[in-house]
Amino acid sequence: MSQPSRQLQTQTQKLRQQLQEAAHAYYVLDAPIMEDQVYDRLYRELQAIEQEYPQLISPDSPTQRVGDKPSAQFQSVRHNIPLYSLDNAFTIAEFAKWQDRWQNLLDEAVQPEYICELKIDGSALALTYEGGVLVRGVTRGDGETGEDITPNVKTIRSIPLRLRGEVIPPQVEVRGEAFLPLETFERLNAERQQNQEPPLANPRNAAAGTLRQLDPQIVAQRQLQFFAYTLYLPSDDGPSQKGDRPFGTHQEALQRLQELGFQVNPHRQVAHSIEEIQAYYERWEQQRRELPYLTDGVVVKLNDISLQNRLGFTQKAPRWAIALKYPAEEVPTTVVSVDFQVGRTGAVTPVANLTPVQLAGTTVARASLHNGDRLGELDLHFGDTVVVRKAGDIIPEVVRVLPKLRPEGAQAVQMPNHCPECHEPLVKPQNEAVTRCINRSCPAILRGALKHWGSRGALDIDGLGEKLIGQLCDRRFLTSVADLYRLRPEDLSHLERLGSKSATKLVESIQRSKQQPWSRVLYGLGIRHVGAVNAQTLVERFPTVDALAEARLDEIAEIKGIGPEIAGAICEWFEVQANRDLIQQLQEVGVTLAADDPSQEGTVAPQPLAGQTLVLTGTLPNLTRNEAKTLIEQAGGKVTGSVSSKTNYVVVGENPGSKQAKAEKLGIPQLSEAQLRKLVGLSPQA
Ligand code: NAD
Repeated sequence: MSQPSRQLQTQTQKLRQQLQEAAHAYYVLDAPIMEDQVYDRLYRELQAIEQEYPQLISPDSPTQRVGDKPSAQFQSVRHNIPLYSLDNAFTIAEFAKWQDRWQNLLDEAVQPEYICELKIDGSALALTYEGGVLVRGVTRGDGETGEDITPNVKTIRSIPLRLRGEVIPPQVEVRGEAFLPLETFERLNAERQQNQEPPLANPRNAAAGTLRQLDPQIVAQRQLQFFAYTLYLPSDDGPSQKGDRPFGTHQEALQRLQELGFQVNPHRQVAHSIEEIQAYYERWEQQRRELPYLTDGVVVKLNDISLQNRLGFTQKAPRWAIALKYPAEEVPTTVVSVDFQVGRTGAVTPVANLTPVQLAGTTVARASLHNGDRLGELDLHFGDTVVVRKAGDIIPEVVRVLPKLRPEGAQAVQMPNHCPECHEPLVKPQNEAVTRCINRSCPAILRGALKHWGSRGALDIDGLGEKLIGQLCDRRFLTSVADLYRLRPEDLSHLERLGSKSATKLVESIQRSKQQPWSRVLYGLGIRHVGAVNAQTLVERFPTVDALAEARLDEIAEIKGIGPEIAGAICEWFEVQANRDLIQQLQEVGVTLAADDPSQEGTVAPQPLAGQTLVLTGTLPNLTRNEAKTLIEQAGGKVTGSVSSKTNYVVVGENPGSKQAKAEKLGIPQLSEAQLRKLVGLSPQA
């Protein structure tokens, strides 16, 4: 057996300590100090070390025990039959490994029959009935001993105080999950907020905390519910220590539980193959959002009780069942470093480089930290463990920092005082969250301006990518957007990975872009607040660049949909000499700076989506999110982030999120990319 290094031993000890502290906060205090995903990750880290170096396993290791010791406020009761936890898998591949594991333990091949159940995110209870009457309700505790909370259990309406049926066994033990319906959880937190009390972390801890209230009246008010999932009946010669189950399958037990008067979750299903289990798991990943209670996965159990008995239990969990958990929409990871990116408006955005993690189906390695104010709020330090989330399904952002996991001596992340690109001092206006570089010749601002100019919604220059822009700027071929129109194929010929054919094509597409209408040019100039839709509106009123440059602030501001803020940004832009010079140069190279026929541009442009609100979900086959948004806005529509009864259409791509399910529920029409294109008057094919 190889020997663990001293460093590994210290790391193991630290992991164990962190997990123990977290488990106590979670199970005993009902006030978690870290995200479940962080706990799970640390737990798996410890598990992996212990697997490699079994000599490091200690009996008190969190991997060797269920839950935590019961709290002292209730009487401790030893469980007749230990109350285990469940092993878990996070992917179907891990599930398949679990299947191999149990199959290898048997000496003959077994064609499995499984029963899939929803994994209710609540708190496990063990209920004892004597002569058909509920005599004891106990929490899971550490699996060996729990807390006697009988008076509280008696307030749960879905737990029968007396069993139903003609033939009542003398002693019955029932296990199941007590949970707080989501509606009650939300109401409870709203009340707590009003009373300036800290909110409850999640329905699971809220249920566990409720069960441990000293006053059963309070428990009664919270209206907990209960789903039963395990039944032990005594054998003919009295109850045994192992618990007897005189029925052949788990399915029969659930049926029997129902007959005895328990609520059993109706969404269970028998399955015979991994494919069927995968289908159940995937179906409920969406549908669970419509349930009035929280589920964090599905539980798959072998249906045959004799098989269950043969496989038995590990220290912590049955070998014949597994929890297949759903991937988190928020995940923890660590911050490796922070970049400060300068955008085309000079805004400096801190971006965290992360240890790559899987998040909602993609690998995330970077996340936005937005601005200096947000950085301060987060109190981010290098090496911190943070929780990242996908905002609006696209850009990941850092939502929380977990200071308890901060490495010793970590340095705080701070906004720089000087631009990381041009090294000029940065400026942060008092009333703004954004820190800016105001050096007009800052290379980052120029690169951003060029990228925006060539983008689909603006001048739509094919082949003008970010890398190429960088190379052209570095070699001083480009010092403004007007320089684009002076590029010759031979200038591009010695750039990396650009053949002469592509160079010619690029120059052609740049030259072609001169024909783009004035409204797109105006949008391409990148004036603050002037998006594609505002540019269209402005062009209707100011059909030439000169007309707009000479317009007074109030003239611009009075246009419907524009207002003083946008008007101010436009006037400011034209006041800057460098911008006036740019217009002059664009005029010289022949870019369109006036509408051909003012009455044609904008006013009569078809607006098939005028007044309509659309929501995007999933990945569209050809259009990016931004392109789809621009398309909708140019057709007069508005794009919002969430589905409500006011939504007119939901545009659905591949792997749609919960928005599609919501649309279905509210009966909102759904569109494919092709249908959207048709609706805005384009050909359905890209
Ligand atoms: P678990 O929640 O992963 O699964 C076991 C439990 O599932 C059972 O005890 C039972 O109560 C429940 N369950 C729900 N539906 C069921 C069904 N149909 N059939 C059988 N059981 C069902 O395991 P656990 O031991 O209760 O908790 C471990 C998890 O708790 C960790 O994975 C972690 O996410 C979380 N945790 C978090 C922290 C933290 O600090 N955030 C600390 C400790 C534990």
